[in-house]
Amino acid sequence: MMELLKQFQKKRNNFLKILFLFLFIFFYSTQKSFAKVFSDLLELNGSFTQGGLLFGKTNYKNKIFFNEKEVFVNKSGDFILAIGRDEKLENLIIIKGLKKNETHKIQISKRKYKIQRIDGLPKNKVTPNEEELKRIRNESKIISISKNKFLNKTLYKSGFIWPVKGIVTGKYGNQRILNGQPRRPHYGLDIAAASGTKIISPSNAEVSLIMEDTFFNGKMVILNHGLGLNSIYSHLKKIHVKEGEQIKKGDLIAEVGSTGRSTGPHLDWRINVYNIAIDPELLLLDQPEF
Ligand SMILES: [Zn+2]
Repeated sequence: MMELLKQFQKKRNNFLKILFLFLFIFFYSTQKSFAKVFSDLLELNGSFTQGGLLFGKTNYKNKIFFNEKEVFVNKSGDFILAIGRDEKLENLIIIKGLKKNETHKIQISKRKYKIQRIDGLPKNKVTPNEEELKRIRNESKIISISKNKFLNKTLYKSGFIWPVKGIVTGKYGNQRILNGQPRRPHYGLDIAAASGTKIISPSNAEVSLIMEDTFFNGKMVILNHGLGLNSIYSHLKKIHVKEGEQIKKGDLIAEVGSTGRSTGPHLDWRINVYNIAIDPELLLLDQPEF
């Protein structure tokens, strides 16, 4: 009798061991499912989709080309790739290494974007006059310089959190029709919250630009997270940081407002790699651990 019981227990223990092993492999593989190792020269992490951001790793001595454009690789072999809203579905990464060259085809999944209608905007905010156009051009030049500022740091490795708690009222990529007129797609994430709600820095950063009164964005802040990655905060009520300041993830940067082209208090949050806007929601979802 005792012998039978022992045998049964042994079998049961073996079964549990195998079960735990399976569970471990299952969870481990799902955790790592977004990491793609292409070769000993290339590893990519992140969202392989339109609007996604890819974090790459290679030997720092290698040269990386993304669709024929050279990408900066830092001393640790880090680099980042932005997949635009309408990026083609097959992209090429060419690695020129010391000993060998490699070409990888990176498959990107297609996104569907919604059409969003916004009515009741002041007429001049949809169709600006000559003088306002001049002002808009000047402001966008300053904004563009800030977006393209090169910073050889990987502050983004501190990870990203939501800058404000609120209701998402506008998604990345939405096609926009303002007062009945088709306009450029929306590249930000609109988060509605009460006027004066605190906005924190989602990641470690250097404050790149402060503008107190722009035509479209109202009061705005641009943060630089390194290697071309920057984040943009618009329609602010109040700004709590200064240009050049080094800030940490979670630090207070501003307050939600409704300045510029806005129909109510909300934060327009954008993330760019230089001029290419990516989807902040995807970044929050698919960020690797550094
Ligand atoms: Zn917006």
